[in-house]
Amino acid sequence: MSAERAAALRKLPSVDQILRVIAGRPEVADVPRARLTETVREVLDRERRRLLAGDAGALDADALATRVVDATRRAGVFSLRTVINATGVVLHTNLGRALLSPLAVERLAAAAAAYSNLELDLATKERGSRYSHVEPLLRRLTGAEDALVVNNNAAAVLLALETLAKGKDVIVSRGELIEIGGEFRIPDIMRRSGARLVEVGATNRTHPRDYADAIGPETALLLKVHTSNYRVVGFTAEVSSRGLVEIGRARGIPVMEDLGSGSFVDLRPFGFPYEPTVPEVVAAGVDVVSFSGDKLLGGPQAGIVVGSKAQMGRLKKNPLNRALRIDKLTLASLEATLYAYEAGDPRETIPALRMLTEPLSSVRDRARRVLRGLPAAARTRLDARIVEDQAQVGGGALPTVVLPTAAVAVGGAALSARAIDEALRVTEPAVIGRIADDRLLLDCRTVLAPQVGALAKALTGVAGAR
Ligand SMILES: *Cc1c(COP(=O)(O)O)cnc(C)c1O
Repeated sequence: MSAERAAALRKLPSVDQILRVIAGRPEVADVPRARLTETVREVLDRERRRLLAGDAGALDADALATRVVDATRRAGVFSLRTVINATGVVLHTNLGRALLSPLAVERLAAAAAAYSNLELDLATKERGSRYSHVEPLLRRLTGAEDALVVNNNAAAVLLALETLAKGKDVIVSRGELIEIGGEFRIPDIMRRSGARLVEVGATNRTHPRDYADAIGPETALLLKVHTSNYRVVGFTAEVSSRGLVEIGRARGIPVMEDLGSGSFVDLRPFGFPYEPTVPEVVAAGVDVVSFSGDKLLGGPQAGIVVGSKAQMGRLKKNPLNRALRIDKLTLASLEATLYAYEAGDPRETIPALRMLTEPLSSVRDRARRVLRGLPAAARTRLDARIVEDQAQVGGGALPTVVLPTAAVAVGGAALSARAIDEALRVTEPAVIGRIADDRLLLDCRTVLAPQVGALAKALTGVAGAR
């Protein structure tokens, strides 16, 4: 190491020296000291590396303190925060999937802030079941005899397989051995549950006789899995829920269906392709049906299982249930979400359904309002224009569906789409769009009406900042 470099390193202020300077900065008065100390260390490390790399001149304590303050403010007080979803993907898993209705939020907050009858029967003062708050709703909405809710649908599938088929065979079509995001693969979950996978049929075609021929003394379950996030098209055949039930009944073997996104509503009137609804699958006689709370249903993260009294009774007795159990906040918001389906038109109350069925003209109006919120200079500099495009449902639901949508497109010669995208991710709230053909598209289907002003403000700031 050269003598100058060594001297520069020696001149670096200590952690304590920098912290003393920061103590006088009002911008970070509410930041816990441990967090400031960690940031000081990071900033010092970076400075040390810079000096070792041969860059001359160490910064003094004042300059380093400013860096720490800037970095702390950029990081924000909370890590998990609100963003503006301008991707157009309504059920975006990375952005939190379904939004809760105001009523669901209200019920959640009430359950959080005060004691509740979570597991108390108010009539008898005896211990009650937490599931009792949603069970009757689920029975009425799906037509099933019994219901249970756990942490998410992956947990529901695990619980069902472990209960019904541990150490036994489960017959599944090769066309349904799906992988969804986040390490969920049917063969892996099956192994974890202790059930043995028996694959039948071919990737594109599975027939009733494939299931019937595979049934043996060790067969405990026939499983149907909804191919949520892809479609096999062309020369294809699958056995319907009803067909599988016929085979199962004839041989005394229960049938389970993992519906993935499970909807209560037929979305065909809004131009969506046919998807079996939960009540239809229950009516087909499937013994155990599982689906997510936060996909098309539009509620909180949860795994909902409905089915026959006999099979559900077995699930409810499994001690694994305790490890997968749903918490009171989820339960409160789930009850409110289910209530919305019984109480009226869920498209008016469930945000996910409202966004999915919102007419293009209304999305376009919102995009226009964003554009109108931009000063002329910002509009020019961003080369901002309204474009029509296509949005996705997301959440591994309705993969072939594209929704006509309207977006504010920005990015050009003065400011590249990439630069705008980067800058919008550090605004407060952050804005997440999608880049296509060197333009950043800010899809307004998923931008909430109250966020229009904030989006325009963020764009204006970005236009002026560089
Ligand atoms: C999404 C999905 C799951 C997992 O559901 P989570 O609620 O995300 O745990 C399981 N099976 C299928 C078919 C799915 O689409």
